[in-house]
Amino acid sequence: MTTTDAATVEKPKIDKAALLKKYIAERDKRLRPDGNAQYLEVKGRLGRYLADPYTPFVERAPKTDHVTFAFVGGGFAGLVTGARLVEAGIDDVRIVEKGGDFGGTWYWNRYPGAQCDTASMIYMPLLEETGHRPIEKYAHAPEILEQCQRIGRQYGLYDNALFHTEIEDISWDDDASRWVIKTNRGDAFTADFIGLGTGPLHVPKLPGIPGIEVFKGHSFHTSRWDYDYTGGDPKGAPLSKLADKRVAIIGTGATAVQCVPHLARACKTLYVMQRTPSSVDVRANAPIDPEWFASIATPGWQQRWLENFTANQAGGMAEEDLVQDGWTDLSRRIRAKIMQLPREDMTPQKMLAAYEDSDFEKMSEIRARVNAIVADTSTAENLKAWYRQLCKRPCFHDAYLQAFNEPSTTLVDTDGKGVERITEKGVVVGGVEYEVDCIIYASGFEVGTEYKRRAGFDLTGRDGLKLSQAWAEGMRSKHGIHVHGFPNAFFVQPTQGANLISNVPHNLTEAGKTIAIMVAHAKANGFKQVEVTQEAQAAWIELLLTGMGRMLGAPDCTPGYYNNEGQDPGPAAKYAVGYPAGATAYFKYLEAWRTSGAFDGVAFS
Ligand code: NDP
Repeated sequence: MTTTDAATVEKPKIDKAALLKKYIAERDKRLRPDGNAQYLEVKGRLGRYLADPYTPFVERAPKTDHVTFAFVGGGFAGLVTGARLVEAGIDDVRIVEKGGDFGGTWYWNRYPGAQCDTASMIYMPLLEETGHRPIEKYAHAPEILEQCQRIGRQYGLYDNALFHTEIEDISWDDDASRWVIKTNRGDAFTADFIGLGTGPLHVPKLPGIPGIEVFKGHSFHTSRWDYDYTGGDPKGAPLSKLADKRVAIIGTGATAVQCVPHLARACKTLYVMQRTPSSVDVRANAPIDPEWFASIATPGWQQRWLENFTANQAGGMAEEDLVQDGWTDLSRRIRAKIMQLPREDMTPQKMLAAYEDSDFEKMSEIRARVNAIVADTSTAENLKAWYRQLCKRPCFHDAYLQAFNEPSTTLVDTDGKGVERITEKGVVVGGVEYEVDCIIYASGFEVGTEYKRRAGFDLTGRDGLKLSQAWAEGMRSKHGIHVHGFPNAFFVQPTQGANLISNVPHNLTEAGKTIAIMVAHAKANGFKQVEVTQEAQAAWIELLLTGMGRMLGAPDCTPGYYNNEGQDPGPAAKYAVGYPAGATAYFKYLEAWRTSGAFDGVAFS
């Protein structure tokens, strides 16, 4: 049976009212007044949790030179923008990166089992340009990191890069039409243009659990995995040094879902400390057949796949689904439900109800999957997610639920309250102390905190205007790329552009192409400054606000970073949206905009 058939088969009746009541009751258990403030900023005595376990620090002389383009962040955003700039003839791109190599999130996240959740064929950037064939449908972290390094080498981005370097200040010098960049390594160099690709998930956070500092055993955050302690490696070698260890992992989000199976196999005892269960659907990973790949990898293949995924996933009516994964399945189900409506019932209200129905069905299936896999009935009950699928990051895994059948592994459910206390010896939940040798924090990253705090600096634009001032009442930009008051600066991220969250790299590659064309245009014509006009920016914001608003993390969702931990995100949140006509329409619009040569709304001078 195909998935489309599955969506149309008669399902058992779902009591929507009872389910909604349960969802609200589970959310209410978890709401807390301190919201984001429940988490600890990793600094001071906790600063050791940030140390880079992967690359030794190398002394170097400070840079005091000039480059055409400086980019903050060596993840996908910096790499794809850098590559397009190099193709456009800019041969002095400098990427500044706090990690010891390229990769961004894939540099830091080397925990066992780390893997992409969007299909490799569309998730891994510049596959066609680098000639790399993904090994499997959902690539594991080492392959993705290698792709980042491959891009860095192929486009010569290593030559000028500054690793283990953090920006302290970037200020606009209007007389010289340049940015002045200062770092924590004593660098003070200038650049004609800057790009910012600092990403949303690079500052680890720790839960504010009383006693976190007193634990006498070993501990680390998942984004700084300590293989010296656990044994094994990111490629999947067993974590052999844990055979005699009692380990607690705190958190059950997308990270924990991927590493728990490895820990369950390796530890003498594993306690999985859970506040809110993740929804865990089928993964169905598979190797990519080289012959099949050769047959589809004709010129332009990756762009075709990207566009096809976006058309399937983000509201389009594509007839073919090349990628066939959990994301396109989700959209297909919603579409199938809506298409079943009689023509006269195609009202926004009825369409929303159809969307809700498909969500209730999907989540019921996911809960039934827990029963089918987990042997212990009380553990199975506790692993069920009681919220709409997009309230939290949907997870897909074929070994996570199974891990709870391992004799080593115990789910310690906190009934939504979280870990009570940490002692010198272990972790306390419900008054019971679980003594452990090691605590692993799978507690996620800062998302809802201020941009300035996460980036580590505040951009200073024309006339001393700080980015934090320009965005005090919410983000303002055109295309999510250009911000008035900050000439020659380009932001590389999804918000206020396509806002395609199911495949973030697609947003970045389209921004990268746009920026390269604009910089090449400025250079070819001797323009010194490139800046969006106030009017064009205001018009873009006005257009964005005609859309449906934020889709992720509705206020009635269980708390998490999608909905600002259940707290009122304030008026600024309404600006965290994308192009009203959807991602496919946006990418088409942006391509026409950048290739027209008119760059409507942006002044070159
Ligand atoms: P998350 O923020 O999703 O999860 C943090 C976990 O810590 C949650 O389960 C949270 O519970 C729990 N927690 C926080 N405080 C406490 C406490 N006091 N006691 C017990 N538990 C606590 O972080 P992740 O690192 O898992 O994922 C972050 C994001 O990174 C993902 O959403 C995804 O976007 C990305 N990611 C992507 C992957 C991929 O593409 N393959 C893989 C991994 C991550 P609660 O839910 O109740 O807040």
